[in-house]
Amino acid sequence: MSTVGIIGGGLGGLAAAATLAARGHKVTLLEKNEWLGGKAAELEEGGFRFDMGPTILTMPRVLERVFAEAGRDMTDYLDLRRLDPQWRCFYDDGTVLDLRDDPAEAAREIGRLSPADEAGFQRFMEVADRLSDVSDRFFFWRSVEDIRDTMNLKQNMNLATLSDVMALRMHRTVAGQIKKDVRDPRVQQMLEHFIQYVGSSPLASPAVLCGIAQMQQGEGVWYPIGGTRAVPTALTRLGEELGVDYRTGVDVTGIDVEDGRAVGVVADGERMRFDKVVSNMDSVRTYRELVGGDAWRDFGYRKREAACSGIVLYLGLDRAYDHLAHHNFVFSRDPEEEFAAIYDQGVPAPDPTAYIAAPARTEPGVAPEGGEALYVLVHTPHLRDGHDWEAMLPGERAKIMSKLARAAGMEDLEERIVVERALTPQSIHDRYKVLDGAIYGLVSHGKVNGAFKPGNRSRQVRDLYLAGGSAHPGPGMPMALMSGWIAADSLDRDAAANAPAVAAE
Ligand SMILES: Cc1cc2nc3c(=O)[nH]c(=O)nc-3n(C[C@H](O)[C@H](O)[C@H](O)COP(=O)(O)OP(=O)(O)OC[C@H]3O[C@@H](n4cnc5c(N)ncnc54)[C@H](O)[C@@H]3O)c2cc1C
Repeated sequence: MSTVGIIGGGLGGLAAAATLAARGHKVTLLEKNEWLGGKAAELEEGGFRFDMGPTILTMPRVLERVFAEAGRDMTDYLDLRRLDPQWRCFYDDGTVLDLRDDPAEAAREIGRLSPADEAGFQRFMEVADRLSDVSDRFFFWRSVEDIRDTMNLKQNMNLATLSDVMALRMHRTVAGQIKKDVRDPRVQQMLEHFIQYVGSSPLASPAVLCGIAQMQQGEGVWYPIGGTRAVPTALTRLGEELGVDYRTGVDVTGIDVEDGRAVGVVADGERMRFDKVVSNMDSVRTYRELVGGDAWRDFGYRKREAACSGIVLYLGLDRAYDHLAHHNFVFSRDPEEEFAAIYDQGVPAPDPTAYIAAPARTEPGVAPEGGEALYVLVHTPHLRDGHDWEAMLPGERAKIMSKLARAAGMEDLEERIVVERALTPQSIHDRYKVLDGAIYGLVSHGKVNGAFKPGNRSRQVRDLYLAGGSAHPGPGMPMALMSGWIAADSLDRDAAANAPAVAAE
């Protein structure tokens, strides 16, 4: 059994804490905010309840596995509802397209819009299925930093491995794969948005990330009653039952390293000794601000860029919009223009895609009767020099309002608003100590290396482990949760391997 200090109580930190405690380690979790759950926070005002960060939950099997570590059944902690349609899509030309939960229905719906693409979508989903399977076998549930950690090409170079390598389509981007399979620009735009789950451009991200489409289409989109906030609440309860010591309001300012090993942390000027440390803080900032020295130089030699950021408007409405589904996308007029602005030029898109969550469809109690707790997210570039979001927000808000009026039938939105709050890239940066205000950790650009993130077992500092959206396997709720499980599993294996042998009696 080791004593473990965890820095940060986001989803990755909470999953690591519960998994480690379930395996018998003594865990102390230190979180700078007064709440646990990190970006999965909540806002309540005027009878409305909003999830502030993530709203779309996929791959609940990852959560199930964390609960199963302690022999618990997730359904005793969370009431999850599967949503259909998964998304409702609104286009500038007035088209409305539902992405249905059942893949055959989804294909038929697409076929009604563009007959040739019914088969094209099915072809794309077959590719996505294969890529998701390769990810599951080589990429998930273990600490991976680069291709050497996935497949041992020298030892395993047989036909099966070769076929898996070919399946990765390393010469192709996400957009390239989609354009190969489907023709209609509206269907292409919808499929390209799966990659927005990792805050990256489909024009620059590796085709292997098309596997995300299968993780959603094959396993569903889920809503936890109580909002996505119910997920950290459930994990915290699990950790409490297992003896995790949670301490909120504690900002960690350093990791103590002696002889190349992490031996504790510094928090509020006080030194705390631990056998091992897990950081759920952004991985780049962990090395840059908490570790420093040679380890930071070694880690930092490879330039790592933040994924996109975003603005969220939380709008309490006195009258609901019945034509909205639970999850909606109101697409930009031109995806290439949009992605070039956000990812290449580093400026807000002239005509952005707006994602809208209307959770009252599934849980009416999020708003006073007949009302709507509307959540509107627009992706923006990560913070650059000169971005002053206090000054920029009013202009971007006006852009979003006119987009929703024009393309999503919400002409009288302003008149329905009774509560309004906003989250900007700067507030995301300050609240969660992320890299340059990133929502989704590190960007996934690069046909070969784009999918690789810093591994969960530090290569620079022994007894240091990384969990969270900027570590392997990446951002988003399921991946951040999985990263916590992997960090815990790696730590636990290392502790077992180094434990002194018990003397035979
Ligand atoms: C607006 C928005 C919308 C999103 N939508 C979705 C979605 O629909 N679906 C989806 O799957 N994902 C979505 N995401 C992404 C998802 O929320 C994240 O990938 C995930 O929650 C990140 O978890 P994490 O473990 O990296 O921790 P984080 O949430 O980043 O939390 C890290 C925690 O560590 C704490 N911390 C950092 N440094 C220190 C320190 N030095 N000392 C003490 N504490 C520290 C922070 O305060 C924070 O609480 C969204 C995110 C945002 C912001």
